[in-house]
Amino acid sequence: SSDQTKRQVRRKAKAKEDTVRADLPPTPTSDAGDSGQDTDSDEWKEKCKDIMKHLPKGVDEGAAQQILNEIVIKGDEVHWDDIAGLEVAKYALKETVVYPFLRPDLFMGLREPARGMLLFGPPGTGKTMLARGVATESRSTFFAISASSLTSKFLGESEKLVRALFALAKMLAPSIIFVDEIDSLLSSRSGSGEHEATRRIKTEFLIQWSDLAKAAAGREQSEKDKERGDASRVLVLAATNLPWAIDEAARRRFVRRQYIPLPEGDVRKSQLKTLLSHQKHELSDSEMNHLVALTDGFSGSDITALAKDAAMGPLRSLGEKLLHMTMDEIRPIRFEDFKASLINIRPSVSGKGLKEYEDWAREFGERG
Ligand code: ADP
Repeated sequence: SSDQTKRQVRRKAKAKEDTVRADLPPTPTSDAGDSGQDTDSDEWKEKCKDIMKHLPKGVDEGAAQQILNEIVIKGDEVHWDDIAGLEVAKYALKETVVYPFLRPDLFMGLREPARGMLLFGPPGTGKTMLARGVATESRSTFFAISASSLTSKFLGESEKLVRALFALAKMLAPSIIFVDEIDSLLSSRSGSGEHEATRRIKTEFLIQWSDLAKAAAGREQSEKDKERGDASRVLVLAATNLPWAIDEAARRRFVRRQYIPLPEGDVRKSQLKTLLSHQKHELSDSEMNHLVALTDGFSGSDITALAKDAAMGPLRSLGEKLLHMTMDEIRPIRFEDFKASLINIRPSVSGKGLKEYEDWAREFGERG
């Protein structure tokens, strides 16, 4: 009967889904922007209601609600160990953010933490992952916004949004405000009257940010200020692939500028090992080393893309047959799968592009 056929089709589709899913590398992270599942938890909903009732004067309700819905990221935590390499950057972030957030009493006076940190480097090197890692490890509320969406999607509403963003960050402190693509907000071009609205958002952002620093510096906050939240435990983390586009004044506000470079061989190796660890594979140690050599110039996200593609290798030659096969019958992933994938998956940064980052890092950044 047609019902029976439908059931069969559904069963086959389900089997396919399971096979494919089981053979894909697990993705330990997700990109900023997609909110995790427990945004809907009752506890969080109650907290939001409470916050909305106690919004400081001058903060737009609609904007605040939008931030609670779209900008605060819940769930899908990233831990330090999920991030391959970048030991220097991790250390700098621990010292600058994690420890001060967990032990504010130890970090006063000379040890007063920086109010902002810039992560710069080629795309796909783990800047977003680091920011999420910081939020997880410092048990902070994580606000993630891309500057280009501020200047496009929310244009017109953006100033209200920026004000609400900082107000909520203080109320929900400790907080990390993560601004991706910060260059599109703080570029020298936006200052020269190209876009009046963009210039206004930039100004508002800089004002809110300095207020934060001032409030934090004068720790002796009034009781009224305290009610509004803890400015000393709000930090702006920003990321950019185009550090040279940020204007000079804005650049100087980031006391710390951390270079997030492409992964070295040993880091690529450990990332590949992690990606393959839950998979059936047959790569010998010497093949692994060969693969590491072949992926010189790859970013972390290129490596992930490569491993995902190679993991499809064992299924590709099967065609329809895979629908009827058990997990055990699927052959392991081999070095040849990687070689085949390397034809299509190439590094996203060129040697020339890389030199620009190195030069900028030498002049303006900390390396690591
Ligand atoms: P960026 O913000 O620097 O552009 P992301 O942090 O968004 O890069 O990384 C994109 C994806 O690439 C991540 O979700 C992850 O799958 C992979 N990736 C990038 N860098 C690393 C890394 N250092 N360790 C593990 N995975 C990484």
